Amino acid sequence: MTLKGEKSVLITENDRTAVPIQRDFSSILQFKEKKSITDLDLRNKKVLVRVDFNVPLDEYGNITDSRRIRMTLPTIHYLLNENCKIILLSHLGRPDGKIKDAFRTDPIYKRLKEYLPFVNVDKADDCVGPEVERMVSKMKRGEILVLENPRFHPNEKKCDPEFSKQLSDLADVYVTDAFATAHRRHASTYGVCPFFKEKGYGFLMEKELKFLSNCLNKPKRPFTIILGGKKVNDKLDVIKYLLGLADAVLIGGGMAYTFLLAMGYNIGKSIRDLSKLDNIRDYLETARSYNTKIFLPRDVVVCDELDYPSEIKNVPITEIRDNHVGVDIGEETIEYYKKVLSKSSQVVWQGPLGVFERKEFENGTKEIARHLIENEIYTVIGGGDSAAAFEKFGFQDDVSFISTGGGASLEIMKGTLLPAIACLTDK
Ligand code: ADP
Ligand code: MG
Repeated sequence: MTLKGEKSVLITENDRTAVPIQRDFSSILQFKEKKSITDLDLRNKKVLVRVDFNVPLDEYGNITDSRRIRMTLPTIHYLLNENCKIILLSHLGRPDGKIKDAFRTDPIYKRLKEYLPFVNVDKADDCVGPEVERMVSKMKRGEILVLENPRFHPNEKKCDPEFSKQLSDLADVYVTDAFATAHRRHASTYGVCPFFKEKGYGFLMEKELKFLSNCLNKPKRPFTIILGGKKVNDKLDVIKYLLGLADAVLIGGGMAYTFLLAMGYNIGKSIRDLSKLDNIRDYLETARSYNTKIFLPRDVVVCDELDYPSEIKNVPITEIRDNHVGVDIGEETIEYYKKVLSKSSQVVWQGPLGVFERKEFENGTKEIARHLIENEIYTVIGGGDSAAAFEKFGFQDDVSFISTGGGASLEIMKGTLLPAIACLTDK
């Protein structure tokens, strides 16, 4: 197969011989059969609420984006109105089963106190054990206790039943609003469920699942997916599930270079995942037999060195040199992608199109984001860094929906059942 030199449109406009396949995403609708927070009897109850407050922190431990906290406020307010004792449980980062101060939930606790100035919010130094039990026993209705990071215990990720039981002993009812962790079978997201008779999902979970299920089950066509970012491995696995589902897949960001390499282009020092070259060749072949067009950049922005570049330029993909690092999609590609997007009725975006954190390399991501907003194209933003890009540009309130869970939404796109939903009480 020699793809080198082909135009970026791998499946051409008139190549419409392929048959669209109907993918089955009905598993995502499973949540409709489960109890939501409004189906539970919560009045005056002690409620363990699993949230995902795994927020980005700067080097001083300050929260740089608190969307995940803000988005669960409807659930917290509802529980306060029900006069509950609210025990909030979230992991933070990857402390690998050890107590690490940098991953304590104190910044979350402080931010919550700011958001809820009239509520008594307290914080425990662990998530299980006698001291936590004592603090819970002293709680009054309408109060909140923020527990310490469950990932300080290796048993959280192991989904240890004894640890799950200890967590569940803290409360009467379990509510999950942790969409971003809903694909994980951990003690606090999954293992606790058998120990609770009553368990349901919160408002954030509901909102996330509704947006995604609408996009996947009843896509407004043409449906375009933008894939960028640098987690090439995670996202490549999704592509095969998108073939036949999406009408177009626009590739950008760090993702693009492994594709270009697979097609025989020199990509210089750009990010790549060599283990995936054969898969990419397969996907490109398979895409031809479906009604999905895969688009790749025609030109890119390159520099000689990411940290202190002395040279930054826009080059066609045929002119990437050995010393070049690809950092953004180029001007021609931006215009070309805008045209595809203008014809799209629905867009799901996972992964920024360049190293947007740097002003010099933000252009592709920013221009495409602006185009979607100005043209009022229905857009759901997946990945965490893509969401951060929208925040950085000040576009966060102008886009249709920004998900709080990139990994979870990718899993859903693969058709995975969410364990954290499957284990809830049936209606
Ligand atoms: P998301 O969280 O939106 O799913 P990822 O986590 O996969 O996205 O990747 C986000 C990161 O990808 C950003 O920090 C961005 O700087 C980086 N990135 C984008 N384009 C490139 C590139 N060409 N080379 C290296 N990193 C890139
Ligand atoms: Mg990310």
